[in-house]
Amino acid sequence: MSFYLKSLTSLEKEIIEELEKLYIYDCHEHLPPESERLLREPDAFTLFSHYCQHDLYTAGMDKGTMKKILWQAGDIDWKWKKFKPFYEKMKHTSYCRAAHITMEKFYGEKTLNSKTVHSVTERIKAANKKGLYDNVLNGTCKIITSINCDGPLDDTHNGRIRQTIRTVDELCSYEQIQKQLGSEKPVCSVDDILQACEKLVVNAKKRGAVGVKFMAFYIDGATKEDAAATLKSLCSDHSLHLPRRNPLNEYVLTFMMRTAHKYGLVCCMHTGYWNDYRELSPSNLLPFIIENQDVKIDLYHAGYPYLREAIMLGKVWPNVKMNMCWTYLISQRFAFDALDEMIEMLPDNKIFGFGGDYYVVEKVFGHLIMARETIARVLAKKITEKTLTEKRALEIAKKMLYDNPKEFYGLKDFDCTF
Ligand SMILES: [Zn+2]
Repeated sequence: MSFYLKSLTSLEKEIIEELEKLYIYDCHEHLPPESERLLREPDAFTLFSHYCQHDLYTAGMDKGTMKKILWQAGDIDWKWKKFKPFYEKMKHTSYCRAAHITMEKFYGEKTLNSKTVHSVTERIKAANKKGLYDNVLNGTCKIITSINCDGPLDDTHNGRIRQTIRTVDELCSYEQIQKQLGSEKPVCSVDDILQACEKLVVNAKKRGAVGVKFMAFYIDGATKEDAAATLKSLCSDHSLHLPRRNPLNEYVLTFMMRTAHKYGLVCCMHTGYWNDYRELSPSNLLPFIIENQDVKIDLYHAGYPYLREAIMLGKVWPNVKMNMCWTYLISQRFAFDALDEMIEMLPDNKIFGFGGDYYVVEKVFGHLIMARETIARVLAKKITEKTLTEKRALEIAKKMLYDNPKEFYGLKDFDCTF
């Protein structure tokens, strides 16, 4: 229990022990193929890449320095000197907590300092060999399968990674359209675009993908004629750059959602938190959902900060599931409130309890510890309040972490004695 908060009650600890026994499905990652990771030269700072860089940046680190420290090989002492002042400012955040838990588990140090940067670097380099993914994901985290985004479709890691593709979007200029869809010939009509989009989905399905990832942009009811008029103006003026909220982008988004469904793929929907998050409220999807109640939607990130807009979709529509991926990292306090309210409001087949949402594989463990901790704290609260019995609470936990994603994505168990 050494990675968990010292303040946990005995009931919370007891629940965590039960959660640790479960083999689970990991509902969202950004893992590169293991072979790609092994080609990199990781060091202690690799553990502070990905989401930690948001906190380093907002603490004041410039992007050029950050790139050199986090994403390039280089002199460790120089890196530490540059890293330290910003690390001091953000080492308490939840992004950093996951990095610290990970570092302690795999590389034996709780925090970074002028000495541990070297010992952690040596150990992470030594561990960077074939078997790393199996060791972390399957051996340590008890993950049966990870649903992954941005990886090559043929990277299945013996079936333990299932890929999703990204949809075509950002159709805001002539150049963006041709870049995404005009590889064979320039795309000049809406039908050309739809044909190219369908080809992408068919190819993904054929090669074993389980979903298409979307961003929850506005849906204003654009028709094919509206999309054609937008395309016409972009084709006649190549300097024109429209906002993302435009009829062509929207028409293609809804076409892709329907097409994903037609070929048996889930629509994995990013909602909330990302740059201009105002464009990504879960409630943007409502007009589509009302018209398309057969399309399977996996709603990511509990809509942060639009939690209740997200819950409303899960509450009302059978085809919408709530995915807690990334949430414990954003804020455990937020995730606690989200789960607390969701469990009160939703049937037990609606929530997917965990998705690491990480690029650096070891960090999935850090996030999983935080997820177990939060899930246990919410369930303990409900047991103490007597709104759930302990048996029912554990049943709900198992459904969130195992049964629900398995059923929704049609996944299969492996022999779990890895
Ligand atoms: Zn993600």
